[in-house]
Amino acid sequence: MTRHIPEGLPDRIRHFIDGEFVDSVGGETFDVLDPVSNETYVQAAAGQKADIDRAVAAARRAFTEGSWPRMLPRERSRVLHRIADGVEAQDARLAELETFDTGLPITQALGQARRAAENFRFFADLIVAQADDTYKVPGRQVNYVNRKPIGVAGLITPWNTPFMLESWKLAPALATGNTVVLKPAEFTPLSASLWADIFREAGLPDGVFNLVNGLGEEAGDALVKHPDVPLISFTGESRTGQIIFGNAAPFLKGLSMELGGKSPAVVFADADLDAAVDATIFGVFSLNGERCTAGSRILVERSIYDEFVEKYAAQAKRVVVGDPHDPKTEVGALVHPEHYEKVMSYVEIGKAEGRLVAGGGRPEGFPTGNYVAPTVFADVPKDARIFQEEIFGPVVAITPFDSDAEALELANGVKYGLAAYIWTNDLKRAHNFAQAVEAGMVWLNSNNVRDLRTPFGGVKASGLGHEGGYRSIDFYTDQQAVHITL
Ligand code: NAD
Repeated sequence: MTRHIPEGLPDRIRHFIDGEFVDSVGGETFDVLDPVSNETYVQAAAGQKADIDRAVAAARRAFTEGSWPRMLPRERSRVLHRIADGVEAQDARLAELETFDTGLPITQALGQARRAAENFRFFADLIVAQADDTYKVPGRQVNYVNRKPIGVAGLITPWNTPFMLESWKLAPALATGNTVVLKPAEFTPLSASLWADIFREAGLPDGVFNLVNGLGEEAGDALVKHPDVPLISFTGESRTGQIIFGNAAPFLKGLSMELGGKSPAVVFADADLDAAVDATIFGVFSLNGERCTAGSRILVERSIYDEFVEKYAAQAKRVVVGDPHDPKTEVGALVHPEHYEKVMSYVEIGKAEGRLVAGGGRPEGFPTGNYVAPTVFADVPKDARIFQEEIFGPVVAITPFDSDAEALELANGVKYGLAAYIWTNDLKRAHNFAQAVEAGMVWLNSNNVRDLRTPFGGVKASGLGHEGGYRSIDFYTDQQAVHITL
């Protein structure tokens, strides 16, 4: 297969500190691979403690001495809108680079680039509409809330849809007047390096945005343990979240954690079956299955179980696996050979735990690259590893249930609680099930689409705190109460 290599790739991926692209102080680098050839296409600067120290010092200076935290929300909002314009103006280029680096299908990468622009527009608008509480005790007191940016925010992001997920943290952190140090995922540092020029052209002052590439255990760890970084917003695996939680504890840092998931899609017999099949196919195979909110466990009422499994397997076999740059491709290459090995190991485990009805290995015609055929296991018991553990690839487990109570027990019977999808035409059942299911976000008869004003976050091992809309503003600001006696 011929591989699409974007023109104009950088000769080295560098940090961006205090308005300049720089290498690591000690010159350390790491290899960056593309997932179609698994060849190293560039070296990236591997940030160490010294680099994080430099970046935090720049961000701290910009916070204590610079104009950004002191600007009117309206002025910051204008910069954020220009950032959104900059992202939109190069959405095709962004998608091309993201697809090359991550293996995501190009049409989906383009959608993610546009969402990144939308995140900036949304927080640009929200910050000027921000109203804070005021309470009056007649004749005695006026109380009001003084909302202030907190300082240097440490932003640590994963490799799935990297540019969009970075925007989800950068936009509210900057809108509220903080300065930032971003540590993107080491598997996929390419698109993050575009932020620097986009921000500069939009007029963001030097030192407000700093980027340090590198490994989690080195650069990420140093950022979490830096005493001048009072906030850490993290998206990644639950296990990493636990480590960060422990490392941040001595400093009592503000933490926002968007973690892993093993979300159920529950299909009742009275559901619109075709719509449920379409949505649950999309729910686990879009973004290569590398999606935190993937509906990776499908629970189906017994009376429609056989029909559902048959339709689902047939449709999974029609999902187009291909070159990520081909617009016809629906599932591309998984991000990295290490992740590919992990997903393939679950495919093998699944063969002993369930009944394989689609996929089950490397698709035909793809001898190299991190390709996995959309894989469906039926009759998966609740104690199976493929039912309990996050696989984060195009692999789904289907399990039958006999009653609402059993469906709920299965849905809640994992350590995660990020999303749940419910398919039924019974209004009462839909709302009662939504109320009882342990998930931060529920979709009723719906695909995974959401309004940016709604809270985003998980319960149990899927997260801590909420981002989205005003919750993001709350996370990135202090709310000081001021009391005046009349
Ligand atoms: P990961 O936890 O391995 O890495 C995430 C980031 O943390 C990377 O930048 C990494 O370098 C850094 N990191 C690793 N160890 C660290 C440490 N000790 N200290 C500081 N930083 C460290 O996760 P991943 O494999 O990149 O991403 C996939 C995971 O992210 C999945 O579990 C997925 O469900 C989750 N995710 C969650 C959401 C959500 O919103 N809930 C969204 C996307 C992805």
